[in-house]
Amino acid sequence: MARINDNYLKLKAGYLFPEIGRRVSRFVQEHPDAKVIRLGIGDVTEPLPPAIIAAMHAAVDEMASRETFRGYGPEQGYDFLREAIAEHAFAARGVEIAADEIFVSDGSKCDTGNILDILGPENRVAITDPVYPVYVDTNVMAGRTGQATEGGRYEGIEYLPITAENGFQPDLPSTRVDLVYLCFPNNPTGAVASREVLKTWVDWAKANQALILFDAAYEAFITDPSIPHSIFEIEGARDCAIEFRSFSKDAGFTGTRCAYTVVPKTVTALTASGEAQALHPLWNRRHTTKFNGVSYIVQRGAAAAFSPEGRTQVRGLVDFYMENARLIREGLSAMGIEVHGGVNAPYVWLKTPNDLSSWDFFDRLLSEAHLVGTPGSGFGAAGEGYFRLSAFNSRANVEEAIARIKNWLG
Ligand SMILES: *Cc1c(COP(=O)(O)O)cnc(C)c1O
Repeated sequence: MARINDNYLKLKAGYLFPEIGRRVSRFVQEHPDAKVIRLGIGDVTEPLPPAIIAAMHAAVDEMASRETFRGYGPEQGYDFLREAIAEHAFAARGVEIAADEIFVSDGSKCDTGNILDILGPENRVAITDPVYPVYVDTNVMAGRTGQATEGGRYEGIEYLPITAENGFQPDLPSTRVDLVYLCFPNNPTGAVASREVLKTWVDWAKANQALILFDAAYEAFITDPSIPHSIFEIEGARDCAIEFRSFSKDAGFTGTRCAYTVVPKTVTALTASGEAQALHPLWNRRHTTKFNGVSYIVQRGAAAAFSPEGRTQVRGLVDFYMENARLIREGLSAMGIEVHGGVNAPYVWLKTPNDLSSWDFFDRLLSEAHLVGTPGSGFGAAGEGYFRLSAFNSRANVEEAIARIKNWLG
């Protein structure tokens, strides 16, 4: 008799975005004339930069002729892309990462889940609350948690609350923890971590033989020059951290798909007999066995993000979204709403006025201002009373959204 992975049955139904979808479609059905503006899901809206499109067109043409046609490429990514990443994303910031420590993939979402393949089931995990839900659900699937509890959490995970009270900086775990997920700039709160904060985490990881899984999907949105873009800017991080990066949010690749994971050759974890084992060969084995590489055309597009024109154009996209973030943040703030984030990240995390619950605020914003955002409680219990607005939208929609909130609250 075939058996299922019973851990899947522990997953809570009614996941955040489907529930938002249900409520929005019901509203639109009942109010067909309402012009609903969506500032909810974190997906980009602007087209790919011309330098990237040109590189992808040229790559398509290469595929059309026998002399330049490409079949399977290296599973870890083409050298031209791995070298461009090493040079522009790391060496340019004084960080030494070798091209063969970079594994190109079709997404950070998959990578943050797949990394669990090479880590034992007995690892104890710490996750911030609120959090990008993928870290939680993939650990549930891997059997690293108990059942879901009343408060929407899972047994066996140490949750590290991030709220205005602690400045959105998680405390170090209070119990023995082997794996910790950190995401800076943070989705959903928009918070960033200073060099000192990251150093505290690296020191903690080294002292506790723990591994940091660092999600830097939003590093390009950092505007404050003192904030590190990579955990590897911190001394010692090469021994205790893996970093996830993506072309999704800065270069607009959410639909095109390209990301990468950095596994330094010096990062280790323990074998059953207590010896240090490098993770690099394990991830290399996993990646080359279960993945057959990102399309050549897409990798050419990704590499073009690092050409001189590509860099200028990607910067233009990021600046465009960050101006949206500024408009949202300053607009809400002027109305007396408590806002966080939106300075070094494309998300504004607001405190719901009048202590409304996150979902009550969602429903009222939808029915009274025809705007869609994301309830903070959907990212974790400690997100209750908060609400996320995304800067990924057209300028016209952002301006209209601010005007509507002003009318609504005014
Ligand atoms: C969008 C996002 C990613 C990127 O995911 P891709 O699969 O590369 O598109 C990674 N981490 C977080 C927290 C994100 O919000």
